[in-house]
Amino acid sequence: MRRFLLLYATQQGQAKAIAEEICEQAAARGFSADLHCISESHKYNLKTETAPLVVVVSTTGTGDPPDTARKFVKEIQDKTLPADFLAHLRYGLLGLGDSEYTYFCNGGKIIDRRLQELGARHFYDTGHADDCVGLELVVEPWIDGLWAALTKHFMSRRGKEDMGGAPATAAHTSLRTDPVKPEVLHVESQIELLRLDDSEGRGSQASEQDTANSDQTGALVEDFEPSLTCSGPPLSQASLSIPALPPGYLQVCLQEPLAQEESQACVTSGDSVFQVPISKAVQLTMNDAVKTTLLLELDISKTAFSCRPGDAFHVVCPNSDMEVQSLLQRLQLMDRREHHVLLEMKADTRKKGAALPQHIPERSSLQSILTWCLEIRAVPKKAFLRALVDCTSDGAQKRRLQELCSKQGAADYNRFVRDARVSLVDLLHAFPTCRPPLSLLLEHLPKLQPRPYSCASSSLFHPGKLHFVFNIVEFLSYTPAVVLRKGVCTGWLATLAASLLQPAAHVSPADSGTALAPQIFISPRATNSFRLPDDPAVPVIMVGPGTGVAPFIGFLQHREKLQEQHPDRIFGAMWLFFGCRHKDRDYLFRDELRRFLKHGVLTHLKVSFSRDAPVGEETAPAKYVQDNLRLHAKQVARILLQENGSIYVCGDAKNMAKDVNDTLVEIISKEAGVEKLEAMKTLAALKEEKRYLQDIWS
Ligand code: NAP
Repeated sequence: MRRFLLLYATQQGQAKAIAEEICEQAAARGFSADLHCISESHKYNLKTETAPLVVVVSTTGTGDPPDTARKFVKEIQDKTLPADFLAHLRYGLLGLGDSEYTYFCNGGKIIDRRLQELGARHFYDTGHADDCVGLELVVEPWIDGLWAALTKHFMSRRGKEDMGGAPATAAHTSLRTDPVKPEVLHVESQIELLRLDDSEGRGSQASEQDTANSDQTGALVEDFEPSLTCSGPPLSQASLSIPALPPGYLQVCLQEPLAQEESQACVTSGDSVFQVPISKAVQLTMNDAVKTTLLLELDISKTAFSCRPGDAFHVVCPNSDMEVQSLLQRLQLMDRREHHVLLEMKADTRKKGAALPQHIPERSSLQSILTWCLEIRAVPKKAFLRALVDCTSDGAQKRRLQELCSKQGAADYNRFVRDARVSLVDLLHAFPTCRPPLSLLLEHLPKLQPRPYSCASSSLFHPGKLHFVFNIVEFLSYTPAVVLRKGVCTGWLATLAASLLQPAAHVSPADSGTALAPQIFISPRATNSFRLPDDPAVPVIMVGPGTGVAPFIGFLQHREKLQEQHPDRIFGAMWLFFGCRHKDRDYLFRDELRRFLKHGVLTHLKVSFSRDAPVGEETAPAKYVQDNLRLHAKQVARILLQENGSIYVCGDAKNMAKDVNDTLVEIISKEAGVEKLEAMKTLAALKEEKRYLQDIWS
């Protein structure tokens, strides 16, 4: 069997899903993939590995490898490793990223660069997939090309062995094969390209149709609006050919009903999961604010859970009851929802390296699994659509599903499925003759991820309590009816909080929870370095618009208590750059921030309002936090370049963090009188020294 090592480094599960897809396809093509999460270092050894390596790496933050790859990256970055440490290794790498972020696909690039520095060589060119335009644009051709590259690699190795050579080892670098190039590899940002391709493609198809039916249907074709369920002008038959899928690997058996408590305990228990009551809920924004922001207080006093200012933690959330019921009804499984779901591998796939999905516990009911384990809201990927084709009986529906997952239907998929935020339930309602078996859902629906939130309090200030804040996420789905939906987690939290909600004026540390308080499940998140400097004399700049201010409230509460406890100590300056839309609608923590200022904890508070019109003669100098940074450029540069201070940025990764980064480059360049490139190096050095810290989220 032609074996290769397949590692994935995943943050949200996408890299894992792609690696699993590669694993499945490998089995069908006569390869054997040895699949592991990159964090499971006890299961593989690159130093002694003789098989080719395939790595799928996602990117998190503005350009970091995912948390699961941290240990791996640290190990390969060990400066004492010799330059030929991995000279025997041949590998192919697929990086995932989003070109709207500054450091596109940087997680993969960091690993790729370092593997090269250690002597490893490509047997297949690196692919960089862009979530901004659709990962599949690169992922699919990259996987398609992988098989030829692997075949070539194995043939070349066999050739060498036949000629008396030994299998590839550190001493046999001559076994290098030429990289095989798949058709499309680097799609850094192909939005324009995509648009062009789309219009050209559609134009030529329309004209084919016009010629064929010019008399009868010309006008109709012009008026025709394709939708999720109806095709536009026909696509050529060739373009609809989609690769045959390997058969599913799961066998599902619905056994006797389980008691609800037993079933749920199975999905929400674990060493690191804590059940805690919500002791208080406060709406921080006015009713006419653009977004509604809530603060929840959790009573953690009866648990061993702890969270320091700067840390984040996870909330384990369920899918909406209504959506689960709707899915069960559509699958005609309502009457068996309490049944125990027993999963087994199909006999013929067991030996091919596939594994049971780890996020589905052994003893739980169908309802619990759909509620707590599977992201039923996830937009179905093309591979899922492909699998649904075979479960659809009506010819036209089958054909439309085929179209949506074909290469030529990419634009339609993006428009009617991805951008329309269609879920599986929506799809099943739109294609009524599609009747997928449960096993298919369990294979394709991704894991329901716990949601991370920043700790917005200090245990010194609120002993036994943990605060966090969030916006109630709302978005439109086009199913094809337009539906306003709330985020899975924030919608659920808002419902739980409804009975406890108090107006913002009532935020007081004295309130406590009641026995009837709603309960939620939380778990710790890997600790990070987003912490105040050990020495309180170090000056600090905090930049946190919107809910990005959350960790800084924890910092300031902590600092306030320290100042009370140690009146003789020297405490450095604390600057906060906060930004919101309207002074009177979404100025989060306004009273608390003013109190910090009054008590001398916060030395400078600079607030920008992005949507307030200037009053009278007043000019509005700062729209965004970076405008205020610019207005105080001298002080910012002095703190960072002369006073050994630290800067913290928290909030939106896509736009704000990128713009703040550019502004800091601009400030350093101007104030230090150096070229932009030099300023960028200075900023990178500050990052390296952990004096420029980011906690940025998409
Ligand atoms: P937001 O949408 O980021 O908006 C806050 C302010 O930032 C608004 O005034 C907005 O102005 C402005 N803004 C927009 N584009 C900007 C840019 N390029 N540069 C600077 N400011 C800009 O606030 P949010 O909804 O509260 O989002 C905060 C982000 O922080 C989210 O991504 C969230 O995931 C993340 N986060 C959340 C937590 C938490 O614990 N909940 C913790 C850390 C981070 P306009 O809209 O008027 O343009």
